[in-house]
Amino acid sequence: MKEFNYVIIGGGCAGLSLAYELEVNNKLKDKTLAIIETREEYKRDKTWSFWKVFDHNFDDCVIKSWNNFTINTSESSRELTNKKFPYQSIDSGKFYKKVNSKLSKNSNVRFYRSLSEINSKNSIIFNSIYNKELDKSELWQHFQGVEIETPSNIFDEEIINLMDFNCEQRNDVHFFYTLPFSKNKALIETTWLSNLEDESLKDYDHQLENYIKKNLGIKTYNINFTEKGAIPLFHPSLSNNSKLINIGSVGGMTRLSTGYTFLNIQEHSKYIVKNINNIDKVKKFNLGKKYQFLDKVFLRVLERHPEKMPMIFFDMFKTSSSTIIKFLSNKSNIFEDINIISKMPKTIFLKALLN
Ligand SMILES: Cc1cc2nc3c(=O)[nH]c(=O)nc-3n(C[C@H](O)[C@H](O)[C@H](O)COP(=O)(O)OP(=O)(O)OC[C@H]3O[C@@H](n4cnc5c(N)ncnc54)[C@H](O)[C@@H]3O)c2cc1C
Repeated sequence: MKEFNYVIIGGGCAGLSLAYELEVNNKLKDKTLAIIETREEYKRDKTWSFWKVFDHNFDDCVIKSWNNFTINTSESSRELTNKKFPYQSIDSGKFYKKVNSKLSKNSNVRFYRSLSEINSKNSIIFNSIYNKELDKSELWQHFQGVEIETPSNIFDEEIINLMDFNCEQRNDVHFFYTLPFSKNKALIETTWLSNLEDESLKDYDHQLENYIKKNLGIKTYNINFTEKGAIPLFHPSLSNNSKLINIGSVGGMTRLSTGYTFLNIQEHSKYIVKNINNIDKVKKFNLGKKYQFLDKVFLRVLERHPEKMPMIFFDMFKTSSSTIIKFLSNKSNIFEDINIISKMPKTIFLKALLN
């Protein structure tokens, strides 16, 4: 069986981002890479959105960038503007096409469907898959989104609605998210922060239709694309060792308070490629102990007081746009952290801190 220097298990966002970063930095000229991927075909299955707080390789896969965003509850609305850090949405279909077309030109890169088809005994393995089912009783961000097209111009294409809490909460945390790609096309998502056991929250089609018709007042529309997902808001423990490095969601790249993962994956890929010659010896990459700690307290509050979360999220955004963006993108300094923390209700956070 053929041996490879590197093996990537799972050719999704993290696997392909890493393979691309290795390729464009000429690390696969005299090294071989096997990518183990089970999917039959690559097609658009997700829309990855994030604040662009640093440069990445996929500007040409961006559907749209925005400088304005709103957050609202049933009582109040707040609009923020930021020109320095645009919010971007990437079409996963374009991403897969770009990466696969680049990799197909290098004969040192091969795709397989199973690890058993190669000899990986001496390889450095980058793993992006879970082998077991994850705990449904834990906290998840689960959602469904539809890209709709309307016959007339309805949307303000310059403003995204990041969180609209003006909807049924059903004793959990629920909001809608609207990304207007043009005046008559938008991705609208219904998002829940809850466990995954409560099947009654999963009537996503009904929630979306109701919101589009009643809240947005859109009577006629076509659905172009649907995406559905569940992001664990906990880091399952997986073993890493010097020859096995976990990447992507399983590598702890999800920011637990937000579900944002895409840009963290890009940063992790850059870190791996920079250190590829001694990757078995360098420190394991993480999003920062500070954010792990703050998110843990935040999620504890969320689980104990779901009814307070619309106001807590809203108050978090009562700061400068750069401060909140940097905080949510793990790039804030201590003064910015204190600024955000000072917006939180003291007693319940203190109680959550003390456990
Ligand atoms: C619908 C959706 C929308 C999201 N939107 C955003 C967003 O807007 N912003 C953001 O920052 N994050 C978002 N995320 C979170 C995160 O960015 C994505 O989940 C991202 O795809 C994670 O990358 P990954 O490589 O860890 O996992 P994946 O992209 O899921 O890649 C895993 C790969 O492994 C393959 N695979 C599975 N089992 C096996 C096996 N046994 N053997 C071989 N291959 C296998 C799969 O086919 C897949 O290609 C979203 C997630 C979902 C599900």
